[in-house]
Amino acid sequence: MIVHETTASRVLLGPGSRHAVPDEVDRTGASRVLLVSTGSAAAAAADLAEALDGRLAGRFDRPVVHTPLSVTDEAMSVVTSSVADVVVAIGGGSAVGLSKAIAARTGMPQVVVPTTYAGSEVTPVLGETADGVKTTRRDPALTPGTVVYDPELTLSMPEGLTLTSALNALAHAVEALWAPDPTPVSDALATEAATGIVGSLPVVLGAPADVAGRSRLQGAAWLAGLCLAQTRMGLHHQLAHALGGTFDLPHAELHAMLLPHVMAFDLPSAPAASARLARAVGGDPVAVVAGLAASYDGPRTLRELGVPREGLAVVAERVVDAPYPNPRPLVLDEVLALLEAAWG
Ligand code: NAD
Repeated sequence: MIVHETTASRVLLGPGSRHAVPDEVDRTGASRVLLVSTGSAAAAAADLAEALDGRLAGRFDRPVVHTPLSVTDEAMSVVTSSVADVVVAIGGGSAVGLSKAIAARTGMPQVVVPTTYAGSEVTPVLGETADGVKTTRRDPALTPGTVVYDPELTLSMPEGLTLTSALNALAHAVEALWAPDPTPVSDALATEAATGIVGSLPVVLGAPADVAGRSRLQGAAWLAGLCLAQTRMGLHHQLAHALGGTFDLPHAELHAMLLPHVMAFDLPSAPAASARLARAVGGDPVAVVAGLAASYDGPRTLRELGVPREGLAVVAERVVDAPYPNPRPLVLDEVLALLEAAWG
């Protein structure tokens, strides 16, 4: 039996859509905004603060990757002192994560304006860290009610972030295609997401200021985020969580470097996913994704990211002991070999 569930969310996509945020706030019925933003979105946040006019109640501009509880505590003190009743977040997945964490504590509605391709804005998932340990929970109430995708806000993404963040999105689509709980909807979303990401990424890398290309890439990343919302994660996301949590690694870079290795590992055990991806990317999916990942001019191996080689066995053991559902059964030596290959 197929079970398909969607979470209600309202999505705006298009150049200039950020200017609709004040109206979107009004639609929530709330009137006192806590504006969360990252340094990368400082200019857009300043414009938004002005446009929000009397609705702006407080600001918090220090979201941190992986949503540490201590940072949420700090933001909550601003929520309390400003008597905010809606959160507006502008920035990458870190800003969106903080918005979800605030909503988890307060039930406040959320209007989020993502500036990367991470996809968190359309998922019911919140990962939080305390004392270096990351825990993840899933609750439909955490999904932001309004998402505003403005491709003009992605024009500032440096080439490396564009590439790694897009591959992070692609990983959501790839894992949806071999998930244990696919539906015709998730298959369609994942196929279209992969087609859109692989098709538009080279265009955007060649012409970073091409708003039409950026729109297509952002639209495809939206679909990829929906894949993550709708299907269970496998080995790729499990390795990213285990490595990222243990060694405090940058999220998108880690996803980008792992993806070709996990695809080479899993696709032979996932023929339907393999066939769909081959059609979507117009060739050998592993070769195409490995080629994209190899064009990154930052760290391309776990070793270059600073992961100690002797740490790999612990991660492999942890993953094999409690595996996420995966098309290829996990054997310790084989997972370790995958990690060794990604280490370099
Ligand atoms: P991020 O938000 O930490 O941003 C990475 C860097 O890029 C930061 O320095 C940021 O300031 C900068 N940046 C963001 N947008 C930019 C832009 N348009 N131009 C220039 N610089 C920009 O990283 P991320 O990869 O977007 O998100 C990672 C976080 O999101 C992690 O905490 C991860 O756990 C979470 N996440 C959660 C889910 C979920 O479903 N819960 C899904 C994906 C990611």
